[in-house]
Amino acid sequence: MNILKRISKVFVVLLLIISILLVARELAFTGSILPPSPLPTQAKIIDIHAHIAGIGAGGSGCYVSPTLQENFRFNQYLAGFGLTRQELEQHGDSIAVDKIATRLRDSRAVQGVVLLALDGAVDTQGELDLPRTEIYIPNEYVAAQVKRYPDLFYFGASINPYRKDALTHLEQAKNAGAVLVKWIPNIQHIDPADPKLTAFYQKMRELKLPLLSHTGQERSFSSANDTYGDPKRLELPLSLGVTVIAAHIATTGKNQGEDNYQRILPLLPQYPNLYVDISSLTQINKLGFMDKALREPRLQGRLLYGSDFPLSNMILTSAWYFPLNLTKEDMRRINNIPNHWDRDVALKQALGVPPEVLTRSAAVLGVN
Ligand SMILES: [Zn+2]
Repeated sequence: MNILKRISKVFVVLLLIISILLVARELAFTGSILPPSPLPTQAKIIDIHAHIAGIGAGGSGCYVSPTLQENFRFNQYLAGFGLTRQELEQHGDSIAVDKIATRLRDSRAVQGVVLLALDGAVDTQGELDLPRTEIYIPNEYVAAQVKRYPDLFYFGASINPYRKDALTHLEQAKNAGAVLVKWIPNIQHIDPADPKLTAFYQKMRELKLPLLSHTGQERSFSSANDTYGDPKRLELPLSLGVTVIAAHIATTGKNQGEDNYQRILPLLPQYPNLYVDISSLTQINKLGFMDKALREPRLQGRLLYGSDFPLSNMILTSAWYFPLNLTKEDMRRINNIPNHWDRDVALKQALGVPPEVLTRSAAVLGVN
């Protein structure tokens, strides 16, 4: 009897909480951030920020540190890619690329994806330092994979500028078709403000290679130096005329007691060569930032579409995290879209991301 009473009490309290939440939602519902527009029909939508997986299977040269392989995140990432470790071992790392290609061909919204290499940490001799590297996805591997699907993929190179032959690597990457250089300074141990990198930046500018640099905290790996994610450190390449794309608009973490997001905004009017990507802004840990970004006058004309795949295909991202912007029908409809890229674009479109943000990458990368 007592148990039954207790259960019914819990039930009543739960019902009350749900009713309060529902009423609160009705009252706080704001609708989309900007009015949603139809998808662009003329210009291409290119995802400027997508990762690929590799463990070195099939002689790919990719590397994932034992620490990260043992980390619980590793299997979650593989699931986000729609992969299992067995599949990689059996068919080689390139199966990851084949799967992405199949999905992309099925996508109605997205026509191209920049696949990102990821260089490792570098030792004092300027050589790859595997013990300090968590993930290494070689340029040669990504360039070769992109060539297998030239209608779908663009090559995003990654070169640690502290490599002793970094300038040669830059030229090789450009010759292999690179459309940008990607860094995650926090884990590659790169200080973007280091004057020693000046020659590297000058070469980037000469080769017309933009720098896509992770900004803000980095929490996808087991360790990181977050001072290198400070957007203010990008002033050196910006002042040297390099086109810089600050990934995620520095939406996490602080430096010198100030939010990184607040630290990037004053740089925009100062440097017309500074862009940002909206990848990861629909993640649950960044709620509210899409709203800020779409309303921020200094970001007008600077936002680029990116997904941060596979993070966008994990529990971190869902239409259900936007109950104040989207109707129940919209959240359900978007969540049920099977294709990852269509779902990602549909969510951003429903929130009010304008078509020009979706199509701006092609012009900034100089591709068509
Ligand atoms: Zn990323």
